Amino acid sequence: MTQPSDVQASAAQMRALVLTQSEDKKVTATFRGDLSVADLPEGEVLVAVEASSLNYKDGLAVLGRPGVVRKYPMVPGIDLAGSVLESSDVRFRAGDPVLLTGWGVGEGHWGGYASHARVKADWLTHRPQGMDAKKAMALGTAGFTAMLALMALEDHGLTPGMGEVVVTGASGGVGSVAVALLAQAGYTVVASTGRTEEEAYLKGLGAGEVIPRSLLSDLKRPLEKERFAAGIDSAGGSTLAGLLACTRRGGAVAACGLAQSTELYTSVMPFILRGVALLGIDSVMCPPERREAAWARLNRDVPQTLLQQGVHEHPLSEIQALAEQILAGQVRGRTVIVP
Ligand code: NDP
Repeated sequence: MTQPSDVQASAAQMRALVLTQSEDKKVTATFRGDLSVADLPEGEVLVAVEASSLNYKDGLAVLGRPGVVRKYPMVPGIDLAGSVLESSDVRFRAGDPVLLTGWGVGEGHWGGYASHARVKADWLTHRPQGMDAKKAMALGTAGFTAMLALMALEDHGLTPGMGEVVVTGASGGVGSVAVALLAQAGYTVVASTGRTEEEAYLKGLGAGEVIPRSLLSDLKRPLEKERFAAGIDSAGGSTLAGLLACTRRGGAVAACGLAQSTELYTSVMPFILRGVALLGIDSVMCPPERREAAWARLNRDVPQTLLQQGVHEHPLSEIQALAEQILAGQVRGRTVIVP
């Protein structure tokens, strides 16, 4: 860990993965060891990055897919955790353990795939006591999103005992954390996955039943037999449409992602005949108070099984292969990236 006393030494040089775009729009990723912190964008707080993570969005950014990075050159990495080196904002002091997810970092402002980051103080969250940087990034945006989804369902009135809660894209980052959090909170969890070979893993996280992805995505009718009290969805598309059709009266679905599709062709029937609610989850612009509540609960409630079985650590040098894997739906659980 970089200590505050190392400020002068560490301030001189930094490492980063830098994305550049050519005139013909081709994006190239280059590992740079010759940068200085003076090259970082403006912000009140300089952070020594100890860990970052891999999210679906990072996969898109690193491989130059459109829709994530808004300007070049860009250091990707939508999550970071580390320690404050310098701060001109009274809320942060040198040595403070911090984390950051969202706010457009890694998209429009240099992000976590680097040894250092300079960011706005408003974007930083104090890491909860006892949560080291790698644990924070084992959760990262995906884990935070899963917690926001659970909190939204509970705000809507969901309690354990109301019935089964289904998680789609269950083997992925958001999905794995959602399965583990729901099970830990006492819910009966059904894991929907395209990788039924992950059944043992998902049951280890606390799923009571594992169902094939097609069971929801192949549903065609506007209303199906009522089954789930609630759902947390990473997929969008026909998976979300199918989930809405078999959500029970008064139930709710938290829509988090688009791993299958951004499109949603459905009918109003679940909403007007069963009072089903569709709750949108936005982790990027989530306000600070809700962030702190979510991270405190993550620190308290994330089970050890998730951290032991659902988290892998890789050096930043392997990021391109990892990006391919996450876009191909082949990454299980969460990936911590060490810059
Ligand atoms: P991952 O790639 O880790 O997980 C996505 C999972 O979705 C895959 O592991 C796979 O799970 C499933 N999946 C993949 N392809 C398909 C498909 N064609 N049809 C149905 N399911 C599919 O990504 P993350 O967990 O990081 O993110 C999940 C989604 O949530 C992404 O779309 C991401 O952009 C979004 N997201 C949104 C946030 C927000 O603020 N709203 C924040 C974080 C993420 P399995 O093999 O088990 O089926």
